[in-house]
Amino acid sequence: MKVPLLDLKRQYASIKGEIDNAMQTVLDHGMFILGPEVRDLETKLAEYCGARHGIGVASGTDALLLSLRALGVGPGDEVITTTFTFFATAGVVSRLGAKPVFVDIDPKTFNIDPDQLEKKITAKTRAVIPVHLYGQMADMDEISSIASKKNIPIIEDAAQAIGARYKNKIAGGFGKTACFSFFPSKNLGAYGDGGFITTDDDKIADLLGRLRVHGAKPKYYHSMVGFNSRLDSLQAAILLVKLKYLPEWHEARRQKAERYNQLLADLPQVVRPFVHDHNYHIYHQYTLKAQNRDALKEHLKSNQIGFDTYYPLPLHLQECYSDLGYNTGDLPVSEKIAGQAISLPIFPELTDEEQDFVVDSIKKFYDK
Ligand SMILES: *Cc1c(COP(=O)(O)O)cnc(C)c1O
Repeated sequence: MKVPLLDLKRQYASIKGEIDNAMQTVLDHGMFILGPEVRDLETKLAEYCGARHGIGVASGTDALLLSLRALGVGPGDEVITTTFTFFATAGVVSRLGAKPVFVDIDPKTFNIDPDQLEKKITAKTRAVIPVHLYGQMADMDEISSIASKKNIPIIEDAAQAIGARYKNKIAGGFGKTACFSFFPSKNLGAYGDGGFITTDDDKIADLLGRLRVHGAKPKYYHSMVGFNSRLDSLQAAILLVKLKYLPEWHEARRQKAERYNQLLADLPQVVRPFVHDHNYHIYHQYTLKAQNRDALKEHLKSNQIGFDTYYPLPLHLQECYSDLGYNTGDLPVSEKIAGQAISLPIFPELTDEEQDFVVDSIKKFYDK
């Protein structure tokens, strides 16, 4: 048996008729940029995320970039975020000429540690970007209270957490803006790049609407220099179909995570994902802390089982950030977990047989 980390073809097969029709509609009307599907998606998805406004953009990365820009972040500013995330979270800060300031993580959830965050705030701090890693929201009560005390806006990086909840409040309900990604492998994935921003702030929404079209409003009149960052109508049409299924897909992932938890319960060499009772985890990833992780990776590879390491090197130790002056040992929790984390196949269409095969293979490895 061969078990992929993710198989997008199965999902497409299950909704092929609807997807093909939706794409054909766009091909027939020909409004490919900011067409009616984009507006429709913006309305429906903003509602799903409990926000007043939704703005489709070209990627999750751009969602972060435009959000920071809308808040006026630029040279000389500092933006605090977690070191244990996908590079985009920090890369956008640097691209605006500002400095990312990295914080270590909670060893249980791998999300940003609010206590460490508070210590990194300076007079130059202009924003905080918590990341809801793997589909579980960060400790938003703590983070919000620290940020509001210091009057620092929060931008939620919810790229992995669309539809996740914290104390019954959905991802996107805490930040000045929240940023989502439609990268194909995300829980709500397009068939190409795409991203989305939610906000309750009318002014920021208007600014973001201009920033994605070169800062123009009306067309050809530029009050500022913006970007070319739009969500395609074709992608929006695909996402409108998929959005209807998102709640049931989340439930299927959660059920599979629970099944992994049960099957792996008697294996002392792995630590299963820790989930706070107040969190609704959408399991973008199912990630273990595993003893002898790198050998386990080799073993899974030879058994044709898909896996990945999110993330093998924390951002404060990346080569491109060597000038920021961090050293090995500065953010020890992240550095340690980078050597232990391993994500297993999880997606709504994963079968019980495949899951059993993954678990048996892991057990065989530790039995040796
Ligand atoms: C995927 C991801 C992004 C970037 O999204 P893209 O759509 O790939 O640009 C940003 N942050 C996190 C945490 C992500 O997982």
